[in-house]
Amino acid sequence: MSNPQNFVLDRRRLIGAGAGAAATAGLAAGAAAETAQPVKLQLPCVVSTWDFGVAANAAAWKVLSKGGAALDAVEAGARVPEADLKNHSVGRAGYPDRDGHGSLDASIMDQKGDCGAVAGLEHIAHPISVARRVMERTPHVLLVGDGALQFALEQGFRREELLTPESRKAWKAWLKEHRYHPVANSEVRTYGKDLGTPGSKTNHDTLGMLALDAHGDLSGACTTSGMAWKLRGRVGDSPIIGAGLYVDNAVGAATSTGVGEEVIRSCGSFLVVELMRQGRSPRDACREAVQRILKRNVARDPDFQVGFLAISRVGAWAVQKGFSYACCDAASQTRIVESESFS
Ligand code: ASP
Repeated sequence: MSNPQNFVLDRRRLIGAGAGAAATAGLAAGAAAETAQPVKLQLPCVVSTWDFGVAANAAAWKVLSKGGAALDAVEAGARVPEADLKNHSVGRAGYPDRDGHGSLDASIMDQKGDCGAVAGLEHIAHPISVARRVMERTPHVLLVGDGALQFALEQGFRREELLTPESRKAWKAWLKEHRYHPVANSEVRTYGKDLGTPGSKTNHDTLGMLALDAHGDLSGACTTSGMAWKLRGRVGDSPIIGAGLYVDNAVGAATSTGVGEEVIRSCGSFLVVELMRQGRSPRDACREAVQRILKRNVARDPDFQVGFLAISRVGAWAVQKGFSYACCDAASQTRIVESESFS
């Protein structure tokens, strides 16, 4: 079943739907075919990926509702899943790489087009805040590996062991499989047995967050531990500006989740914003970006998933079920924090 409002791509479903579905974007969970209509919101507003975005949105909302800056809001929001020890795909408790090292990727971008990012950052629980420091305190955009760690320590971030007992146990269980096959949504698998469908309530990855503040300024943040069991040194889309995140204050912003290699190959978030610049709605722009990936990836991987989230500078947004948002209700000006979780 395809639905024009869905823009998460899941190749298994597309194969199942037959050749005619190849030009459409589908969802992994058939029960969740409906999505929210793109609407014009009152400012401010914030949208984010997956159901853990609800708590992240609430933190961002605290900033936005007091007239705070979108940049501060997205950093505050991203720090929530980064600190969550139950979250094995973002931050502190993220699953490690193939060799057992926890390494994190993050990026942040503001209304001026300034941006900062870190990739393969080890031992620091809040990569999003290090990314912001890269943006604000260096002439650079991206720091990686040991250099990123050195910078973080110099900036006063605390060095800590990222691997939790649960993450270590999961990694050891994966090692027993003796095969190299990193996957998105790995946090729901007990190695061999998939415990959830991509997008389901117990199954989520990167936190991508986009906010439009009361002054009409946009910012975005993207943070992840990347694909579990990845090769040491592998970098996904999340810290790559234009791939996992892009913000243009004159047009809109986009972020992504899913198999980062596909998003990097297509400059996904930049593409979504450029399509909005040409007049596409956030929803249509996300769909087009997904379709381009699908067209190229016909044979390569039968098991991949990619999703985009976008907001335009006038506050029109596109999210899918399983993602969440917070905004002012146009009539009452009250706060709404909603998750469209799968049932
Ligand atoms: N996009 C992330 C990466 O490829 C992971 C994910 O969202 O599942 O690193």
